Amino acid sequence: MLDSIKKIFSGDADETVSTTGKPDISREKSAALYAKAKTFFPGGVNSPVRAFKSVYGTPLFIEKGDGCYLWDADGNQFIDFCCSWGPLILGHNHSKVREKVIEVMQHGMSFGAPTALENELAELILKNNKFIKKLRFVSSGTEAVMSAIRLARGYTKRDKILKFEGCYHGHSDSLLVKAGSGLVTFGETSSAGVPKSFADETIVVALNDKAALQKAFDEFKDQVAAVIIEPIPANNGLLLQEKAFLQFLREICTQNGALLIFDEVISGFRIGFEGAAGHYQVKPDIITYGKIIGGGLPVGAYGSSAEIMGNISPEGAVYQAGTLSGNPVAMAAGIAQLSELLKTGFYRDLHNKTEEFAEAIQRYASAKNYIFKVFSIGSIFWFAFTDQEAIRRADEIDPASMDKFKMLHRELINRGVYLGPSGYEVGFISSAHTKIDLEKAKRAIFESLDVVFRGK
Ligand SMILES: *Cc1c(COP(=O)(O)O)cnc(C)c1O
Repeated sequence: MLDSIKKIFSGDADETVSTTGKPDISREKSAALYAKAKTFFPGGVNSPVRAFKSVYGTPLFIEKGDGCYLWDADGNQFIDFCCSWGPLILGHNHSKVREKVIEVMQHGMSFGAPTALENELAELILKNNKFIKKLRFVSSGTEAVMSAIRLARGYTKRDKILKFEGCYHGHSDSLLVKAGSGLVTFGETSSAGVPKSFADETIVVALNDKAALQKAFDEFKDQVAAVIIEPIPANNGLLLQEKAFLQFLREICTQNGALLIFDEVISGFRIGFEGAAGHYQVKPDIITYGKIIGGGLPVGAYGSSAEIMGNISPEGAVYQAGTLSGNPVAMAAGIAQLSELLKTGFYRDLHNKTEEFAEAIQRYASAKNYIFKVFSIGSIFWFAFTDQEAIRRADEIDPASMDKFKMLHRELINRGVYLGPSGYEVGFISSAHTKIDLEKAKRAIFESLDVVFRGK
């Protein structure tokens, strides 16, 4: 990277120097809010990636969202491809979701006792998903996964879990673990505060590597309670797996008496109503959901067969509870959102739009010989500065390519397009993104790529 550019992105004084000839948008009010937020919150935020540490400038403080648009505190308008990191498959402030939430809120916001709304959302899900027979609602994806792991351990009476490098499963202790060196490794903690003894219960292997998986099972035969995977890994780039690998995973789990957990917190209801399990027609033993399931409010869920779910308290011995679990307002948002997804043609239209968008950008970049790939599936896309035809493992991503993403992000912000502030994050398209919006976004992306690759 050029020194002059390095300076710009290092957060030094002359941050406002633009590489584009196009002035940076005003972030005055966002910057003031951020300065104040830093006095309240570590790093000024309540979730780390929001702090814009991997991209240029201070984080934008959002004032309003409507459809596919966002407005920040300075009045700048953006076409939003972050969509709250996935939940907003109908876009911001969808009238059906808003109205249902307001209707339910008129009757109170939490009871700590069952409501009919929980039945309604559960029925909507279970009737349209052949992979699970019973479920439990919780309040976040992290909680769903953490509970699913406990369930797998309680059910199999084994302790170890196997995860893949490059998959994110929320921030619970046993999952904040990354691969060490070597083919099959005990995990190393990827956060301070996680005891080494916890990490020792987690085995980490590379994605798309049958031999490593086989070796792990040879070594830890009767100790593995569960294998957990994002069947569509979308938290560290978009590391699309081959169906054969997921089938292999299914078989090896069955052979070894380990449960297969699909973490569908992103892919659930995104890739189709039945998520990745439906897309690949591979049946896991437990599925976790989050994000879309709550329509923008905090909901998570885990589900399985009636037999396995029978191990959860109060029916069984695996304890799991929540003061706000099945919260009526959150259930209302989920019911309204999922009802829209069940309408005929919903996913077909969304996927077609995304495919056209991704292909047009790829055509443009390829015609100009830019080292750039758009990977996509369903309504998820990922911009990668690579010339590889496929990226299936975390270690195939070149960290140096993130410098280019940083530039791209800035150019897009200055042209009214908002991507999640990290090159490892994927983008989402919602049903609110019209063809006209996507045309506008494409033009901004073309111009921005031209700047990134200028004098390459
Ligand atoms: C977002 C995510 C989680 C964590 O969900 P939170 O609601 O942020 O706790 C877990 N797994 C996957 C695959 C996710 O994408």
